[in-house]
Amino acid sequence: MKFAVSSKGNSISDTLKNKIQTYLLDFGMELNEEEPDLVITVGGDGTLLYAFHRYSDRLNETAFVGVHTGHLGFYADWVPSEIEKLVLAIAKTPYHIVEYPILEVIVRYNDGGREEKYLAMNECTIKSMEGTLVADVEIRGQLFETFRGDGLCLSTPSGSTAYNKALGGAIIHPSIRAIQLAEMASINNRVFRTVGSPLILPDHHTCVIKPRNDVDFQVTIDHLTLLHKDVKSIQCRVADENVRFARFRPFPFWKRVQDSFIGKGE
Ligand code: NAP
Repeated sequence: MKFAVSSKGNSISDTLKNKIQTYLLDFGMELNEEEPDLVITVGGDGTLLYAFHRYSDRLNETAFVGVHTGHLGFYADWVPSEIEKLVLAIAKTPYHIVEYPILEVIVRYNDGGREEKYLAMNECTIKSMEGTLVADVEIRGQLFETFRGDGLCLSTPSGSTAYNKALGGAIIHPSIRAIQLAEMASINNRVFRTVGSPLILPDHHTCVIKPRNDVDFQVTIDHLTLLHKDVKSIQCRVADENVRFARFRPFPFWKRVQDSFIGKGE
């Protein structure tokens, strides 16, 4: 099996990365940073997000597993003291693959039908660079509302615990193939109206955001920030591709939610 190890870049993560690499090479596994079957990330959820984007053109061939060197992560759920156990599991046991849905974003421009496609593991956010974002929100080809406010966030189920949660969105189990649309500070008064609640769209419903004012947009795809000019529409839907995680032991999603946000209790 071909493997690669990505580190957050701080000294504790780099030390662990070297240790994991040495152990796996000792087990006769092949280090291949270009075409790995398995990517082990060492750092946090952010480190796994970076690795996802690095290998996003080969999601069908690459699986991910994350070790966290800070707090418990949603993607990075192994701790440094379990490294030996993890390495043994990688080298000796066939792993189980768990697939989570991701988000496809297509940005279309006014000039000559140009378009760019992106994949997000957590979310896409859309904000105006100058003042209020004014945009028509279409769902399944029908105008749903005209949004006025700070911005919109379209997230995946596994990303629902990230930015989406801070916006009051629901936490969605990643076995549900859906995307969630959450508002950032919408203007609501007698003139302007939005639904005000997060919406959860199934995988056959596409959401298209069409800017109404002629301004530049800041679009984020996970940790990447892009500035878009002359945008005609931003289309979001559940992607055909999935992100694949290598599972060596059960760690239920709701247990991770509980450990991350509630703690052990009394
Ligand atoms: P960052 O600002 O350095 O880290 C953002 C935080 O979000 C980190 O604590 C990270 O965990 C955590 N995180 C990432 N994915 C998560 C997930 N699926 N569930 C729960 N927590 C998650 O930025 P970054 O490391 O480049 O990550 C980019 C992400 O930051 C974006 O995708 C967005 O979701 C998130 N973000 C959140 C807010 C907010 O909550 N108000 C605002 C902006 C961006 P680790 O420490 O384990 O890496």
